Amino acid sequence: MSAKTLTQADLTSLVSDILAADKRVVAPSLVGIGPLEHIEYRPLHKAEDMVLDRGLPKRSIKEMFFPPTEVVFRWKQKKSDVAIDEIPTTFQQTVVIGALPCDAAAPGIVDRVMNWDYRDELWNGRREATTIVAMACDGGDKSCFCTAVGLGPESSKGADLLLTPVKAGYHVDVLTPKGEELVSKYSKRFGEAKSADEAKKYQEAARKKVEGNLSFDAPKMRAWLEGNFENEYWRTIALRCHGCGTCATMCPTCHCFDIVDENEGVLAGERRRNWDTCQTGKFTLHGSGHNPRHDQNARFRQRVTHKFAIYPGKFGEILCTGCGRCQRQCPGGMDLLEILGDIARMAGGAA
Ligand code: SF4
Ligand code: SF4
Repeated sequence: MSAKTLTQADLTSLVSDILAADKRVVAPSLVGIGPLEHIEYRPLHKAEDMVLDRGLPKRSIKEMFFPPTEVVFRWKQKKSDVAIDEIPTTFQQTVVIGALPCDAAAPGIVDRVMNWDYRDELWNGRREATTIVAMACDGGDKSCFCTAVGLGPESSKGADLLLTPVKAGYHVDVLTPKGEELVSKYSKRFGEAKSADEAKKYQEAARKKVEGNLSFDAPKMRAWLEGNFENEYWRTIALRCHGCGTCATMCPTCHCFDIVDENEGVLAGERRRNWDTCQTGKFTLHGSGHNPRHDQNARFRQRVTHKFAIYPGKFGEILCTGCGRCQRQCPGGMDLLEILGDIARMAGGAA
């Protein structure tokens, strides 16, 4: 791993250079006006639209790899024959700049399921076309718990480059071949690394800030979840959940989808996949009318159990980056930190 320095002015020029090379640059940007103003990851039209000092964007970068709705193929019927139009699975080269570590780590976690029993070409095509330049976080807010799930405000997991704010601009850790390629292609924008100690101090302070929010013993939590499917706790905790699915929509690692056919007349149509979530009643509704997750207790239990027991059991990774979005934006006030803290205590693994 090598290191570089990037001034603020050079970062702006770097973005302009990449845009001029016909690549897409996605970065945190200001959207909305007045009280609705907030930050989202958006494709940039110009470098000056990038906003890197306003914390975590409202939605995650999930949709850069897995759009809320997309066509998987189109079909046309001619007498008894059906012609299928495949959808291209190569995508415009994209550089994501300023992904917070909890977002940069998420696609790598979801890679496991997208390459498990079937290689998802649309997901992998976007992954291969994308370079992720992560930004070390200042420790976020009281809803963050990245350190409890093995990450941290300085985590480089999933990042090709990691920028850490320093007085001179940014200390840059070059982490992967994709990161090296970016640095060598735009080498005139990068200077010699001079601020490694200053970057380390920034990262340590950020870690200290977030570490106090939550910690738990992941294997003990998993064991509790596996052994407490019918625990009364689920009945009390899920009462506030409306089943709206906001949590899954905002989550960088929730990845469920539904497949629907949309006809254009009677002889043509397209097959789409649309985001879906285990938090809604119809997700597991069978054609017979039977629903194995017939109430919100069962549905909320599924979300927590999948993330902290089932996925780790199958793929060795917790399906959560501790970004805190699900609790910041839940209309029912479901507090995942509080819930994980409760479970950790019941599991005997609270730190
Ligand atoms: S936990 Fe909150 S955001 Fe998620 S489905 Fe329930 S009410 Fe909606
Ligand atoms: S479950 Fe909540 S805290 Fe964890 S990654 Fe998803 S939105 Fe973030």
